[in-house]
Amino acid sequence: MKYISTRGEPTGRHFSEILLEGLAPDGGLYLPTHYPKVDDATLARWRGLYGNGRPGGYADLAFEILSLYIDDIPAADLKALAHRTYTAATFGTEAIVPVRRLEPGLYIEGLSNGPTLAFKDMAMQLLGNLFEYELARRGEQLNILGATSGDTGSAAEYAMRGKRGVRVFMLSPQGRMSPFQQAQMFSLQDPNIHNIAVEGVFDDCQDIVKAASNDLDFKRRHRIGTVNSINWARLLAQVVYYFAGYFQVTKSNSEPVSFAVPSGNFGNVCAGHVARMMGLPIARLVVATNENDVLDEFFRSGRYRVRAAAETYETSSPSMDISKASNFERFVFDLLGRDGRRVAQLFGAGLAKDGGFQLTPGEFERIEAFGFVSGKSTHADRLAAIRSTWEDHGDMIDTHTADGLKVAREHLQPGVAMVVLETALPAKFAATIAEALGREPLRPAALVGIEDLPRRFTVMAADAAQVKAYIERHCRA
Ligand SMILES: *Cc1c(COP(=O)(O)O)cnc(C)c1O
Repeated sequence: MKYISTRGEPTGRHFSEILLEGLAPDGGLYLPTHYPKVDDATLARWRGLYGNGRPGGYADLAFEILSLYIDDIPAADLKALAHRTYTAATFGTEAIVPVRRLEPGLYIEGLSNGPTLAFKDMAMQLLGNLFEYELARRGEQLNILGATSGDTGSAAEYAMRGKRGVRVFMLSPQGRMSPFQQAQMFSLQDPNIHNIAVEGVFDDCQDIVKAASNDLDFKRRHRIGTVNSINWARLLAQVVYYFAGYFQVTKSNSEPVSFAVPSGNFGNVCAGHVARMMGLPIARLVVATNENDVLDEFFRSGRYRVRAAAETYETSSPSMDISKASNFERFVFDLLGRDGRRVAQLFGAGLAKDGGFQLTPGEFERIEAFGFVSGKSTHADRLAAIRSTWEDHGDMIDTHTADGLKVAREHLQPGVAMVVLETALPAKFAATIAEALGREPLRPAALVGIEDLPRRFTVMAADAAQVKAYIERHCRA
């Protein structure tokens, strides 16, 4: 399998060559030249392989899917990587992504039982093992520099902790993450993990990362990389749980299933799109947004309008607070018949000049064939969904999953099971849970008392030069 760019360049790279890279050279995103089609017999075999909680079943399924897209890692090695990643020890159950039934035809798929209680662990844990493997094979090192306001940073740190050849330098705005998130990140004692608490806001952190990455000499000398959401390996890892979810709610491969996906950067639901393109019988992909409704506006009108900072709201589902959706270009490439020139026009010069674009009526019409529908949710909707799910089912869901559930209910169809993806656990969002339910959220036993653990972090001014000097010192160590 080779990879091409959404802006048209046929780069001809293999998986391992794009694993450690960000954007394609022409500024586009990498996608495989085609989506391998999975026939009925293969689906049936995979259903048996996953086996609904069979030990190692998820890892075996992951290996099958990854193999279709990765042809430059020996099969035995790839299988071992999958089995090292997807264990009951890391994800809590042999099912890895257990589905629970809320009501007839309405299910929740638990993607958040990994170390940081959010679905990003599903991809990031695999990425950590892939990075370690590939860096060892090349005899290289990588220093991951990132900025986080919570979720992504902790998932990256828990994936890379103790990995050979990798160091993580993670900037976060001092005192602005939730106490739980701070405890999660700062309690890591691994010498290859560096938490830098910046005296500033999240944008200051991001500006420092940009400044360091734009210093090409610094970047090259210190082998600076990222683990951002456009990484193809992350997206690919997420394809697997659509299959595992499908197998859990159906008995045969003739039953259509819809998935509702709390969305921000469009990585998660784009993986659903890939699964559907491969032939998984997905009826609808329901894109759920919060008040930051860039994506809902697009799927309703064909207009993609990047939001200014002043128009990007801080909400109680903060991991969906986006101004633009960084993976979205991948779907548009497929929507437009893989016309890289048109994508380059829309996302390159057009986006820079007009802050967005409008599809032609002919282009917009095609969305239906791809199964996408959308909806949005507000703070009040979130509270209501958390409350009713708790009162009616004794099931406590987090704020992002609540957005997904609220929008899912608007798109139920008779005879089609609806699976809402649970993207985080309520323990991470105590304040909103207290507002909705008047009590503290449930917390997995392993994380009780995490706030009392010793912390390891460095406070620093919002100054790129200081951060670069710190990285320089610790790269030599
Ligand atoms: C990252 C995240 C999302 C959004 O996922 P995308 O892949 O960016 O669309 C939703 N919910 C939670 C809890 C997240 O951490």
